[in-house]
Amino acid sequence: MDLGIQGRCALITGASSGLGLATATALAREGVVVTLVARDSDRLQSAAGELRSQSTANVHAFAADVTDEVSVRKVVQQAREAMGSIDILIANAGGPPPGTFASTPLDAYGNALRLNLLSTVTMCQETVPHMQRNKWGRVLAITSASVREPIASLILSNTARAGLTGFLKTLAREVAGDGVTVNSLQPGLHSTARLTALYDDPSRLSATIPTGTLGDPDDFGRVGAFMCSVHTQFITGAALPLDGGALHGLQ
Ligand code: NAP
Repeated sequence: MDLGIQGRCALITGASSGLGLATATALAREGVVVTLVARDSDRLQSAAGELRSQSTANVHAFAADVTDEVSVRKVVQQAREAMGSIDILIANAGGPPPGTFASTPLDAYGNALRLNLLSTVTMCQETVPHMQRNKWGRVLAITSASVREPIASLILSNTARAGLTGFLKTLAREVAGDGVTVNSLQPGLHSTARLTALYDDPSRLSATIPTGTLGDPDDFGRVGAFMCSVHTQFITGAALPLDGGALHGLQ
């Protein structure tokens, strides 16, 4: 299927590894010009170089920490200057540290909100008005299946991503008339560095998933690219779980 987005321009944050990199890769393979953002410059440039070797798309990369508002506004500007436009925003970052109510101090909530909520709000402020003027845009945030079923040991992630999901739903309705869609993907367990950081032996987790496998980041990336395609103009305000059937609820 032709996704109809060849020549479009995408900003992807949290893009040097895992689900962000997989989504950037899938977009680049569709002929989308991409700008990758992450903090570690060496790892970022290495990911960008690998992507250039795998596709004919233009690949740009700028190091920035999305928890810093000034850096976010600056990197969006750099990306727009490099690509000429930002038609697609993939809002992503790492996850906050694990913890429970008893183990988590108040200032950790501020850090988590900056990482997994305010960073995306800032990116939307810097990109969505342009998309509205162009009468076309795609905002896709990578959140977590924990928005639907909070995970006991991840109180910071549960809290920040629920707030982000409320923000995205509100934004989606506000800009729908301008051809801009706003959605999120909710990963269940996928084999990435984040999973290795959280669990001693991630492979044993596959037994908890009805498909019997961990999610493949490349599959996730292709779903992400599809959600940014011309075929999804009627999908907005959605939060799509990619979880191998692990969630129990109806919604
Ligand atoms: P990952 O492999 O650890 O990749 C995280 C990416 O984000 C890296 O490129 C990292 O590069 C970048 N990053 C982290 N903090 C950043 C910051 N402050 N500013 C800019 N870039 C930053 O993680 P992943 O598994 O792809 O996860 C992506 C998101 O999905 C995370 O929020 C994660 O919590 C969520 N999630 C993942 C799973 C899963 O099973 N993998 C499940 C549910 C939810 P630098 O460190 O160099 O900045």
